[in-house]
Amino acid sequence: MGYDIERFVGYVNEGLLCCVCRDVLEDPLQAPCEHAFCSSCIHGWLVHHHNCPEDRQPLEGALLRPLFRYMRNDLSRLQIRCRNREQGCGMVCSLESVDRHERECEYGLVACTNAGCPIQVERRSLEAHVAACEFRSRECPHGCGYTMLTCEDSQHSCVAELRTELELLRSEMICKVEEVRHEMESRLDSQRRHMVQKESLLKSEVEELKGQLSRVMSDVRALLGAERLHRQELEQAELEKRELLELLKSLQREGRSHTPSPAPPPGSAPEGLRKTGGARGLTLDCIKRKSREVTVI
Ligand SMILES: [Zn+2]
Ligand SMILES: [Zn+2]
Ligand SMILES: [Zn+2]
Ligand SMILES: [Zn+2]
Ligand SMILES: [Zn+2]
Repeated sequence: MGYDIERFVGYVNEGLLCCVCRDVLEDPLQAPCEHAFCSSCIHGWLVHHHNCPEDRQPLEGALLRPLFRYMRNDLSRLQIRCRNREQGCGMVCSLESVDRHERECEYGLVACTNAGCPIQVERRSLEAHVAACEFRSRECPHGCGYTMLTCEDSQHSCVAELRTELELLRSEMICKVEEVRHEMESRLDSQRRHMVQKESLLKSEVEELKGQLSRVMSDVRALLGAERLHRQELEQAELEKRELLELLKSLQREGRSHTPSPAPPPGSAPEGLRKTGGARGLTLDCIKRKSREVTVI
């Protein structure tokens, strides 16, 4: 939609009017037939038509071009009143700068900056409104720390507020305690499991050591038995050796007195005497027999 022609000061050339809305061109575009339109007006027209609204010549969106430069210049130099004239703004400026003015016009309506406030006020009185706005928030003057809207003033009770806060803190604390308890329990559980595993490991090691010990003990017992046997054998052998030596000596004595046969070289025993072990008993008998024969002779 174009600018209301009533807002303009002075004469406005017919060529600067939109062929659709008949107001002064806003964001103008031009057809090949040189008719000009507001951008929104012609695009709206072309949704249902395929021609120029002025002379019905065929037309589609792709054929639209910017307005001739001299027309754009004429347009931007037109003098227009601020749209807030009825509110009291007396501003008249060129069309090219009116948007900038209206964005900052003191008579323009703006929304209150307090969240939740539905009121729109003129920019020049915004500050005063915000200061008195019932949606402005402030901290409780009695020191409970609650930030409240001015409209809540009458219903506010510090005690109730503090009680709610306390409840909140209490439930938060209960949650935290519960969390910590859970964590401790799970930690203890895992430690307990670990201990049980370790205990069974130690038990099996002890069992194994016991087994090894009993094997070693039985080995020791066997060795002791063997040693005792060995010692007995040695004692027996010693005894027999002594007996044989006695016998040998007596044989030599008797031999020397009957037959002058040469004595065996010292250190060499008769053949039978060199035998050991089980043959020893046999040798002893043989020697005794010989000694009797010698005695008879
Ligand atoms: Zn228009
Ligand atoms: Zn045309
Ligand atoms: Zn203004
Ligand atoms: Zn407000
Ligand atoms: Zn309070």
